Amino acid sequence: MSIRVRFAPSPTGSLHMGSARTALFNWLYARHCGGAFLLRIEDTDLERSTDASRDAIFDAMQWLGLDPDEEAVIQSSRRDEHVAIATRLLAEGKAYKCYCTADELAEMRDRAFASGRTRVYERTWRDRDDAPSGVPYTVRLKLPVDGTITLDDIVLGEITKANDDLDDFILLRSDGSPTYNFVVVCDDAFMGITHVVRGQDHVDNTFRQMHLYDALGKPRPRFAHLPLIEGLSKRKGSASVNHYRDAGYLREAVMNYVARLGWSFGDQEIFSPDELVEKFTLEAVHPGGGRYDDDKFAWVNTQWIKALPVEEIASRALPFFARDGYGGAVDAPLLALVEALQPRAATLVDMAAQARFAWTAPTEYDPKAVQKWMRQDAAEAYDALVAELSAITDFTRTNIEAAVAAVVERTGLGMGKIAQPVRIALTGGAVSPPIDVTMFAVGRDETLARLDAARTLFGAP
Ligand code: GLU
Repeated sequence: MSIRVRFAPSPTGSLHMGSARTALFNWLYARHCGGAFLLRIEDTDLERSTDASRDAIFDAMQWLGLDPDEEAVIQSSRRDEHVAIATRLLAEGKAYKCYCTADELAEMRDRAFASGRTRVYERTWRDRDDAPSGVPYTVRLKLPVDGTITLDDIVLGEITKANDDLDDFILLRSDGSPTYNFVVVCDDAFMGITHVVRGQDHVDNTFRQMHLYDALGKPRPRFAHLPLIEGLSKRKGSASVNHYRDAGYLREAVMNYVARLGWSFGDQEIFSPDELVEKFTLEAVHPGGGRYDDDKFAWVNTQWIKALPVEEIASRALPFFARDGYGGAVDAPLLALVEALQPRAATLVDMAAQARFAWTAPTEYDPKAVQKWMRQDAAEAYDALVAELSAITDFTRTNIEAAVAAVVERTGLGMGKIAQPVRIALTGGAVSPPIDVTMFAVGRDETLARLDAARTLFGAP
């Protein structure tokens, strides 16, 4: 059997991390098994669905690399088909029209609640033929009354329900619009979906949907219900994939972190996308919740910033640098700078903040650092270094290092006494990458200009 799975987001917001996990698990399962990963936009709620949100979801999926194998199915475009299926079910006597009013249904809800029954609808119109005319109606599916139904879930195992506990649920509302439980099955059957992988919040729907497959004469797919992610529901907008992308997280880190929300492989924490495809199985998904942990996510991101090749990080960081005012390209000084910052940057935004000195001269100097390092006894060495640096025609790291080493040797001063004043002059503070990289990144003329501008700091009180 060739496996076909789908991700079916409702376009009512950006791609939330919880939905990203559903998308990722479907994609990983398809890639692992050599199956197909499909996308369906569930936009039947026309009031809440927006094109902007659909585009944001496409965008986030593309960024993550979750590429669908076929063109996305837009659910609203299948409306006629949905209505035709409901009409057929009515004609076959597998569905019926219900004329209950909102008040009658509210009373049924009260009675069900009072008697502790999960089924609400009292099957009022199931077997009647005294239909009033000109009164709005809903279309309901005729479920079996007796017996049980068993879901053999890949993650949760077997769950059995009494059919008597299930409502003859609505397929078409009184305004003729189809319900989620109805169209999801029509479309999954239409798309040939073999495995439905989605959140545990859908388990109750699944029993109804299984009955609908039976009524349609379609084979039921296998189901895998993913654990809820603790600590995520509160976060809403801030926990979207695009939010993390814009905050300078790497796609590998997002994929890695999201994959571990409910899935594990021994105690391994870091997985490349290829490794995830190789190792992922639905059988290894835990039935219990994964917990959302920002610190852990941040840590995974630092691991990926360190792990990727410097050229790759530099080209991904470039838009963040540009946003911060960098107008250049990925050249040798920038690569040296990025390489020095890889072990220290939490995100690409953070890397841009740490790299900013390369294209922005300091407008002020940290007074504590100035007081500590810009002392008269270091001024002579400073001037000597300026002289050495001015003499360099080819401003390479090796030549810069040699100039620093020559001054260290000549003055007998420690490295700190020589390098720290330079750092302050170049960045405004006492923390920056190795001094040769710092100068290389700033460039010869600008380095000399900043050293000159900061010369007056020596001897300041
Ligand atoms: N649109 C539904 C949701 O976002 C899809 C559920 C399903 O996968 O069946 O929850």
